[in-house]
Amino acid sequence: MKSKSKKPDTLLTHAGRHPEQNHGVVNPPVYHASTILHPDVADMEASEAKRLEPVTLYGRTGTPTQFALEEAMAALEGGDRAVAVCSGAAACYVALLAYLKAGDHALIPDSVYGPVRAFATGFLTRFGVAIEFYDPMIGAGIAALVKPNTKAIYLESPGSITFEVQDVPAIVAVAKARGIATMLDNTWASPLFFKPLALGVDVSIVAGTKYIVGHSDAMMGIAICAEHSFAAVKRSAQQLGYHAAPDDSYLALRGLRTAGVRLRAHEKAALAVARWLKARPEIERLLHPAFPDCPGHEFWRRDFSGSSGLFSVTLQRDIPKRAVSAMLDGLELFGLGYSWGGFESLIVPPDPARIRTATKWDAGPLLRLHVGLEDTDDLIADLERGFDRLNKAR
Ligand SMILES: *Cc1c(COP(=O)(O)O)cnc(C)c1O
Repeated sequence: MKSKSKKPDTLLTHAGRHPEQNHGVVNPPVYHASTILHPDVADMEASEAKRLEPVTLYGRTGTPTQFALEEAMAALEGGDRAVAVCSGAAACYVALLAYLKAGDHALIPDSVYGPVRAFATGFLTRFGVAIEFYDPMIGAGIAALVKPNTKAIYLESPGSITFEVQDVPAIVAVAKARGIATMLDNTWASPLFFKPLALGVDVSIVAGTKYIVGHSDAMMGIAICAEHSFAAVKRSAQQLGYHAAPDDSYLALRGLRTAGVRLRAHEKAALAVARWLKARPEIERLLHPAFPDCPGHEFWRRDFSGSSGLFSVTLQRDIPKRAVSAMLDGLELFGLGYSWGGFESLIVPPDPARIRTATKWDAGPLLRLHVGLEDTDDLIADLERGFDRLNKAR
């Protein structure tokens, strides 16, 4: 299929499928494999020479199910190739490791996903990479932080928990002028609502665990690459021994087929819940990229074509922790759990002030909500009863 000319919903339906190669079966089959047999030495050596290509060589270098998912994700983003690995976090790590070595310096936003912060300050620091966190709203000002040994600028837009939308073209322009690699965590919007590679980012990362799998049951990470960034990312995944398991690749492909309708339903419901929350007296600030209160809202309007189901609110500062717990503990529909992007609603009370190092976080208690596919009126009623409990416990 000539993917460049097709619209996203068509790609979601058709990309990565080759029924003619699989007895006419609509979905790419699951191939469980460690050993792959070759008919002769010449074929074995030819496969070995093509180990970065979607060619079966050994289970760990990828199966046809993983290759189908990679093909579909690359087509959706408009990228050249993709690398699927065992989790979203693993995809973030391979993107960084593709470009960093001992003695290098890397810039990472203060709003970065927590496990990536831990990987940078733990693993990367231990292996001799200097890590510096930056204000996610820094824009072109990042030029002042660049050193002669800066080799990677990491972006995540919007940021985890606090939803700052970054000025991606401004940061990419600084990086490109100095030959610095950029990688962006695009999990929140997915390639359906934001296309970082088109803005010059070198690697676009998606935690497929969230909206691509979409059913809270499998882990998946995809690093989508341009032609020039593919080999380094693929090699770092192979050297780490990462691959995407066949069953999980199948579940990610199955989720992908309905990601368009699901994401638009999450978007609509989240906007309705956010609007309702914004009018509540208990709310201090709404941190949803589609609303003007959110830092970088203007960049969301400029660069994104939609919003997803995840956002935060901060509550009035005089609301004590026990009142927040009283609200959350009794919720019927919003589950208390990590991750997001599945069909169900979730809520968590993280504290950004405890995590940040480059910027100061000063706000009332924060709640991060994932708005699922339940009836929106039922979700609002659940939150309304929650606020009753909160106010009784104040
Ligand atoms: C969840 C998440 C990840 C990591 O994905 P896992 O599959 O859970 O490892 C990375 N980035 C963001 C923004 C996430 O929300």
